[in-house]
Amino acid sequence: RDFCLSRGLGDVYKRQGVNWGDEGKGRVIDLLAEKADIVVRYQGGNNAGHTVVTGQGKFILNLLPSGILHSKVICILGDGMVVDPEHLSKEIAQIREKGVLVTPDNLRLSSRATISMPWHRAQDELEESRLAKTGAAFGSTKRGIAYAYSDKYRKKTIRMGDLLHLDEPRIQARLKMMLDSKNLELSGCYHQERMSYPALLSWCEKQAALFAPYICDTGSYLEAALKNGKNMVLEAQLGAMRDIDYGIFPYTSSSSTISAYGPIGAGIPGEHLNQVVGVLKAYSTCVGAGPFVAERAMPEAWMEALRKSGGEYGAATGRPRRVGPFDAVASLYGLKCQKADKIALTKLDVLSSLDVIPIIVGYRHGDETTTCFDPLEDLDSCEPIVEYLPGWKEDISACTDYNDLPDKAKAYITRLEKLLEHEIQFISVGAERNQYLLKGEWL
Ligand code: GDP
Ligand code: MG
Repeated sequence: RDFCLSRGLGDVYKRQGVNWGDEGKGRVIDLLAEKADIVVRYQGGNNAGHTVVTGQGKFILNLLPSGILHSKVICILGDGMVVDPEHLSKEIAQIREKGVLVTPDNLRLSSRATISMPWHRAQDELEESRLAKTGAAFGSTKRGIAYAYSDKYRKKTIRMGDLLHLDEPRIQARLKMMLDSKNLELSGCYHQERMSYPALLSWCEKQAALFAPYICDTGSYLEAALKNGKNMVLEAQLGAMRDIDYGIFPYTSSSSTISAYGPIGAGIPGEHLNQVVGVLKAYSTCVGAGPFVAERAMPEAWMEALRKSGGEYGAATGRPRRVGPFDAVASLYGLKCQKADKIALTKLDVLSSLDVIPIIVGYRHGDETTTCFDPLEDLDSCEPIVEYLPGWKEDISACTDYNDLPDKAKAYITRLEKLLEHEIQFISVGAERNQYLLKGEWL
């Protein structure tokens, strides 16, 4: 069986996702899903957006796995996720409007996934606004993810499966305990109105009525599927730079984004991955706060032009992304965290207008230079060491064969491979499904 995990390695460095995220994981998963039976999201919530462009138009997915656009693929929101049911309802409604079928036959929600409660979003907004007054905001997407995860670890939240047992005293007692505690925080610290128990119960009942047919023990389902030889793709939401342990803490997400966590977050903790696909962008981008060395490499006008040609505005939030050249230092670190077998390089076409193409090949810190990314270092005081390659200055968006690429584009890829000590197997040259070419052995 093929057991693939696609994860963002991204680019970079400080930013997120393995880059910091937004490397184009959605489109790569969409492609892998063609050969998959099941696609599982294993961490995070609705705090990032993944874009897939099909013949039916452009889809931005936040919670739904990027396999949902393939009618025969079963999609799973796994144990390691936090699920905001209100957001999920809206996302399902939007995608149905475009003619995509979403039913309990092709979407299953893990009974172990943590529920993101309405107060998590409220708390995120309140705290981020408080911090913003002192200039110390995190750049949170204000979707409540950090608060949902922290309440999971405080054992003060409920999981999707609990919605199926709302009439049981044990669940009701937990809801009351959670509510008391949350009201203390929200009314005491932030002077908000207290939520009543009947209001909480009625919110839960509403979600239960909507989602009960979708909730099940997805771990057992996946185990059985693997025994039956099914192909499975695990989908990460953000890159290594945003991993809670290995990323640029505290400018990270609140979950484990790296591939080693995939089987745990998916609900099959004893399984090993057959293949890990690292997704890197041909340049660096980062949404949100935190150290991002790449943005100090080039003048503002260069960055603005790149942002425009790459459409670098957050899929979930519309925020302009911070941009810079490909950061080999951060990407090498991301690859080390992900232990990728295959690399997908996306958005190469965006560089086509450049006369020269910068690449970050090292960092300078005082008198010292390094090619090792260290998230514990004061990255804001690191300066990028930039090397320039000649640009190819021609449209490559119709190339479907590696040999069709201009020599200078091939030279750029070869240089990245050398810096990453790893071959690149997939290169995308446009957002559409068929705008990619393969080099070497793909999956
Ligand atoms: P994800 O979060 O990693 O799934 O990535 P996003 O969807 O947030 O950002 C990637 C953006 O780049 C989306 O708007 C995609 O449609 C677009 N995209 C993906 N691959 C390519 C490509 O090869 N060329 C161009 N020009 N755009 C691409
Ligand atoms: Mg994204």
